[in-house]
Amino acid sequence: MTKELYRDTHLEIDLDIIIHNFKKIQNYIGKDVKIAPVLKANAYGHGAIAIAGAVIEAGCEMIAVATLTEGIELRKVYKDIPILIMGHTPDHLLQHSVRYHLIQTIFTYEQGKLINDLYTTTPSSELTSDSTLKSTTDSLSTPASPIKVHIKYDTGFNRLGFKDSAESIQLIQKLIDLPHLDVEGIFSHLALKDNVSNELQYSKFITAIKQIESHGHHFKYKHLADSISGIDFPKYRMDMIRPGAILYGLKSYKRSDINLSQALAFKTRISHLKWLQKGECVSYDYTWEAKQPSLIATLPFGYADGFPRVFKNQPTVTIWGHKVPIIGVKCMDQCMADVTSIQDVVQVGDDVVIYGDGENNTNSIQQISELVGTNKNEIVARLSRRVPRVYMQQGQITSIRDDLID
Ligand SMILES: *Cc1c(COP(=O)(O)O)cnc(C)c1O
Repeated sequence: MTKELYRDTHLEIDLDIIIHNFKKIQNYIGKDVKIAPVLKANAYGHGAIAIAGAVIEAGCEMIAVATLTEGIELRKVYKDIPILIMGHTPDHLLQHSVRYHLIQTIFTYEQGKLINDLYTTTPSSELTSDSTLKSTTDSLSTPASPIKVHIKYDTGFNRLGFKDSAESIQLIQKLIDLPHLDVEGIFSHLALKDNVSNELQYSKFITAIKQIESHGHHFKYKHLADSISGIDFPKYRMDMIRPGAILYGLKSYKRSDINLSQALAFKTRISHLKWLQKGECVSYDYTWEAKQPSLIATLPFGYADGFPRVFKNQPTVTIWGHKVPIIGVKCMDQCMADVTSIQDVVQVGDDVVIYGDGENNTNSIQQISELVGTNKNEIVARLSRRVPRVYMQQGQITSIRDDLID
């Protein structure tokens, strides 16, 4: 954690908004449905460590990530919170999932068998050999109780999962019978094509669960819903929802009786200003030419920070409450804006809002995604680790995290 911002380009993240969003979602779905906030992709760009702290404070049931390393990053800081890896972990890496007490998603019998067998073969000495784990080694020993896993059941998305079939039900039954495995969860994922296809996926899912549970097993967590389905379709909430987007205030659901706010703003400061004469050009390939004497600002952010290089429509940034166009080809670390229209007020060092919440003439993440021609999740997931994150609570900076130097 640095004390100081080492770069003008930064993200501001309001942790109070994250906590409010979480609580509003919990109220909306009712206390009987648990929440596993999705913190993959560095918590959708917001910074996984800090966001995990906020959702744990808010009372989440477990945290969901996509990859083994995302799970390990969080486990090194948070010893106790259950962490579900929703993606595939290759067989030779399952030992790490076990040793960091991560809950692995499995979708073949062999994966479950390997994890079951690791129960006795993962020596605790292996855990202490990793010096970076010193502070958490106490809790990272050979598991004392069966190893928790969640089953991924494919109801039609055709990404990961046991394919919906009688044979799969039998294999899942065999997994349940393994002595060192606690098959505590089963989940699927909706393609959200339309109501008919949603219903078909749902009915496949509950039919499979009924068959499995009829043999005496009880899943503690049966889960299906992401952000959109968790808000719009109460029936699909089941025991737990896995919201990503809405936690950060990125709204694609249809219902209007829940009001969530965007937690993130992307900001920088002008690094250089210069007047160009008519006919002078800007950036690679000279795609932009001054049609008149023009004041051009250089801004110290580029596509390596996660700002898309290719837009379908011309992007703008906001300076002194005015939208000004970004001109020419965007570079890896910098870009240029035409600030001729605000020439009387603009100075080097002035604040620039790249993504705001839509207020005061800023571009919200929603608007940026439309300008690019993609979805909101992609815009935030692209925000790179090079950009320091500034965390706010009650309007004050509470911490700064710069992954490059912390
Ligand atoms: C990413 C992901 C989610 C969260 O998706 P949102 O649309 O951001 O809520 C939920 N479940 C799975 C399996 C995912 O991969």
